[in-house]
Amino acid sequence: LITGRGIRRAFGDTVVLAGVDIAIRPGEVVALLGGSGSGKSTLLRVLAGLDDDAAGEVTGRGRTAVVFQEHRLLPWKRVAANVALGVPGTDVSARVARALAEVGLAERGAAWPAELSGGQAQRVAVARALVREPDLLLLDEPFGALDALTRLKMQALFNRLRAEHRFAALLVTHDVDEALLLADRVLILEDGLIAQESPVALPHPRAPDDPGFGGLRRAL
Ligand code: ATP
Ligand code: MG
Repeated sequence: LITGRGIRRAFGDTVVLAGVDIAIRPGEVVALLGGSGSGKSTLLRVLAGLDDDAAGEVTGRGRTAVVFQEHRLLPWKRVAANVALGVPGTDVSARVARALAEVGLAERGAAWPAELSGGQAQRVAVARALVREPDLLLLDEPFGALDALTRLKMQALFNRLRAEHRFAALLVTHDVDEALLLADRVLILEDGLIAQESPVALPHPRAPDDPGFGGLRRAL
């Protein structure tokens, strides 16, 4: 779906990405792990086309939507207007309503971002990505700032949305458990290169009704 070849990025003398090769197939969820400062966000920005100063080649970006670690909602626009921002087409408000319903926020379209909890704001950010009907989601630690229980709920939501929409995703995360839970494949970024790649061998819950983890996920 998307392929990056020989991606290099330096800031001054500091080489952050030293020739990264990465490919994501349609419908595949790939987790990207790596220490703080290893260049995960930098790589995601290059793949998203948000970095003009990187070298290398990115092809097949297709319809891509990005979810950042902070929700980046515009505080002066209501929730629905934030989700609708920049979305082309005629039936935008219906699509916005559907996307908000999918993340469990059907009632909050008229709210201001400041009236939302952190988890709700992050769900709005997911809705804002979904409304674009992306083939590929680039997610930069989307649940990292949330409390543990909310994060579990968001992970369950992610798997539900994935089962329905069949998007591919690159999920940047610090959380090994999250990587194993959500991804088909795990990449580790180290010293500017993809140091390790492993398919996820664990039988992990994918279907929304899969109980998993002693039924906890069903309870969510
Ligand atoms: P974290 O897990 O903490 O989010 P990360 O893996 O996402 O870390 P990046 O944000 O990609 O790391 O940063 C990688 C390196 O590049 C860091 O050393 C950072 O200081 C540097 N860097 C990133 N953006 C810039 C910039 N705009 N100017 C200068 N240096 C930068
Ligand atoms: Mg980062």
